[in-house]
Amino acid sequence: MTFKDLELAEPILKAVEAEGYTNPTPIQAQAIPILLRGKDLLGVAQTGTGKTAAFGIPILHHLYTAKNGSQGKRRIKALVVTPTRELAIQIGESFTAYGKFTGLINTVIFGGVKQGKQVQALRNGVDILIATPGRLLDLMNQGFISFRDLEFAVLDEADQMLDMGFIHDIKKIIAKLPPKRQSLFFSATMPNDIVTLSKKLLGDFERVTI
Ligand code: AMP
Repeated sequence: MTFKDLELAEPILKAVEAEGYTNPTPIQAQAIPILLRGKDLLGVAQTGTGKTAAFGIPILHHLYTAKNGSQGKRRIKALVVTPTRELAIQIGESFTAYGKFTGLINTVIFGGVKQGKQVQALRNGVDILIATPGRLLDLMNQGFISFRDLEFAVLDEADQMLDMGFIHDIKKIIAKLPPKRQSLFFSATMPNDIVTLSKKLLGDFERVTI
């Protein structure tokens, strides 16, 4: 299988080819068609498998395709929650790379730095928000974030977030998401409490294990 077979919007295909990718990795080959059909996804996969593109490419495809038919106002339409600043930055860079011909904008927010620049970026308007749980909840509580137009919610590295003590933050975040959304849940391992958490996020889902 090649990326051409996935019937992606032209600007996304062009960006993926510009990255030098020709063949989807196993998780991409399995997850992208499921996500393009609009299904929720449980992905049991580790970093290094091409997981970021597996969710980033279909999200960009949907947002770009929808944007062409609407006014395309910049409101948060996709949220990715990930445990660490480093992962958040990497995911942001991936969205920037795969989305570079779409006009869609992402921003990354994380703790340990002053919030001013992050708040300003949110005020300027973003399509895709990548965040660590603590700072996200903090900015939500201060009223800087609206999920009214949210269409996609991704929980990345769920087992690591649990290990880092983010479970309560994550539950509060999930409770604020609009019910009508496509949800994606990724974890390297699936202990019982992760299975329970996945059920809070996901509706009727398909599972991909790598
Ligand atoms: P990830 O698991 O998302 O952290 O991705 C791991 C690495 O694989 C990143 O450096 C990506 O740029 C690279 N990568 C992702 N998908 C592909 C692909 N289909 N072909 C070649 N490299 C890829």
